[in-house]
Amino acid sequence: MSNAPIIGHYINGQVVADSAQNASDERYSNVFNPATGSVQARVALASVKTVDQAVASALAAFPAWADQSSLRRARVMFKFKELLDKHHDELAQIISREHGKVFSDAKGEVTRGIEIVEFACGAPSLLKTDYSDNIGGGIDNWNLRQPLGVCAGVTPFNFPVMVPLWMIPMALVTGNTFILKPSERDPSASLLMARLLTEAGLPDGVFNVVQGDKAAVDALLQHPDIEAISFVGSTPIAEYIYQQGTSRGKRVQALGGAKNHMIVMPDADLDQAADALIGAAYGSAGERCMAISIAVAVGDVGDKLIEKLLPRIDQLKVGNGMQSDTDMGPLVTGEHKAKVLGFIDQGVEQGAELIVDGRGFSVPGAEAGFFVGATLFDNVTPEMTIYKQEIFGPVLGIVRVPDFASAVALINAHEFGNGVSCFTSDGGIARAFARTIKVGMVGINVPIPVPMAWHSFGGWKRSLFGDHHAYGEEGMRFYSRYKSVMQRWPDSIVKGPEFGMPTAK
Ligand code: NAD
Repeated sequence: MSNAPIIGHYINGQVVADSAQNASDERYSNVFNPATGSVQARVALASVKTVDQAVASALAAFPAWADQSSLRRARVMFKFKELLDKHHDELAQIISREHGKVFSDAKGEVTRGIEIVEFACGAPSLLKTDYSDNIGGGIDNWNLRQPLGVCAGVTPFNFPVMVPLWMIPMALVTGNTFILKPSERDPSASLLMARLLTEAGLPDGVFNVVQGDKAAVDALLQHPDIEAISFVGSTPIAEYIYQQGTSRGKRVQALGGAKNHMIVMPDADLDQAADALIGAAYGSAGERCMAISIAVAVGDVGDKLIEKLLPRIDQLKVGNGMQSDTDMGPLVTGEHKAKVLGFIDQGVEQGAELIVDGRGFSVPGAEAGFFVGATLFDNVTPEMTIYKQEIFGPVLGIVRVPDFASAVALINAHEFGNGVSCFTSDGGIARAFARTIKVGMVGINVPIPVPMAWHSFGGWKRSLFGDHHAYGEEGMRFYSRYKSVMQRWPDSIVKGPEFGMPTAK
């Protein structure tokens, strides 16, 4: 595949595939079209030297960018938002071709990313701080929120536009410069976003992209000029990034994997619950960190729920995501498909009841595509691998429990705590659920509770390492450093040295 186009880096306002200086270090990785299984491009994998160039470019751009007024920085975001709107379909096509998700879902992803840019347009207001007039002795006290410096973001394959946009607008409007290391599996959208930022008026070097794998991430983690790292991806890597980054004194937020449950109470509207489960379990072929992969059937609701699910699964249209009538596309790579099939095998071996088997599924005319059919297990138990681990494929398991308290105890005992949902018509149950569940994002009759841009996104337990959730107010805090200033002028009332602890007078 040496004729496949090369997807390069974006450093100091230029696309660079590799530079002659770095040529001996450059490696490449295949980028597939998951719907056909063919290689459509090769992505450059940054060497340490390439990462060093990106950091040097971001470091050089930092002082002038940090010195801009927040209003000027926000104006770049206004323009960026306009350009994202204009290129909305193009971005969605790029996502669908490299990730495999259906075009309408990819458009939704771009919309959710644009919403963060819209939020960041409010930077002058968001960066306003508190001021205390005359705390005593002619002194005033106020706070500043100042930029950190060069920040980096490492992002997963499953949202190649939305997740980088959880970070980029927030980091930039707070006055930082930024280096994005996108997933090597669907890297193209990052370059279009970089070009649009430049077109929006962002000075060269303020935003850079280094394509790559572990070597690039390690180079970012070890670089002394990187002040902060935002990570979104699987839990083992999130934990590694958090430990490596914080041990070097960097600020780190690392969002990890998930196993999201949906409780279905006997009093729930079962048609609504079944529709919600189908979309949340099989949408994007289950490759969402907020996908529902476990339905917790309370009391006698299990059989009735399965009755509602089966015809809906039967009607699912699986195929190339660029075809308009498709509900579910392929998985991202052949390697990931093999992993998901391995989980289904394990479920069978460990005694779960396989009601709908998505193995051996293929799309006529696209037999080499990375498709797995919708899969449904009943009688899944907490000891099984398919209950404990994140599958990240179109596999839904049903766990049966006697009552609401057992459902809550089950979920609270799981190592992950990203998203959760409860379908019920009982307000008391809904209230108790929201208050007692140990999960970061909670839906009541809402299957995928992804918070809006002005709230913040993040899980609990081993779904997030660090103190800050992503975007919203938490994002503003993560990307800015708090400073408190006290000021007194020479004509103020206190004269001579003071030896006691200053107190308000
Ligand atoms: P991943 O952890 O394999 O990769 C994420 C990023 O880390 C990529 O950029 C990758 O190049 C890099 N990376 C991979 N291995 C590395 C290593 N050994 N050392 C350093 N860097 C490494 O995740 P993925 O498969 O791309 O994405 C799917 C995962 O992301 C799922 O677990 C999903 O739940 C999670 N996710 C979580 C959220 C959230 O908000 N919590 C959102 C989206 C995805």
